[in-house]
Amino acid sequence: MAAKMWHGVARSEIEWAPVIDYSKCNDCGLCLLSCGNAVFGFSKSQQKYLVANGGNCVVGCTTCGKVCPEEAISFPADSTKFVKAQVVKYKIFPTVKKELQARLDKFPDHVISSKKEGNLNG
Ligand code: SF4
Ligand code: SF4
Repeated sequence: MAAKMWHGVARSEIEWAPVIDYSKCNDCGLCLLSCGNAVFGFSKSQQKYLVANGGNCVVGCTTCGKVCPEEAISFPADSTKFVKAQVVKYKIFPTVKKELQARLDKFPDHVISSKKEGNLNG
């Protein structure tokens, strides 16, 4: 299977994933329900929610941390600063540019016509 990438960088190079503080966790499961990337799993034997696939976490995302009612989820760093540091470290913009062009070529409906733009701006 092809390695997961983040704008041209191997995802495994980037240490970004949630961490659960079990002294606070109430086992509500909202983290699992709120993540669309299958980062969390439920351990039958331990009867608790686990970070099962940290490498699936979207770099810079903190959604599960925001919805956790017990503030039991933390991340390795401030997300804004962290993403900025990765952008600088890996110089991702040339890759981002290519990815954007490929996206717009694949989904022409993402290009908004000037007529529609006028309507959007009221
Ligand atoms: S949302 Fe928070 S409190 Fe609920 S299971 Fe996940 S980590 Fe625990
Ligand atoms: S930060 Fe976002 S992508 Fe990562 S586990 Fe939480 S909800 Fe999923």
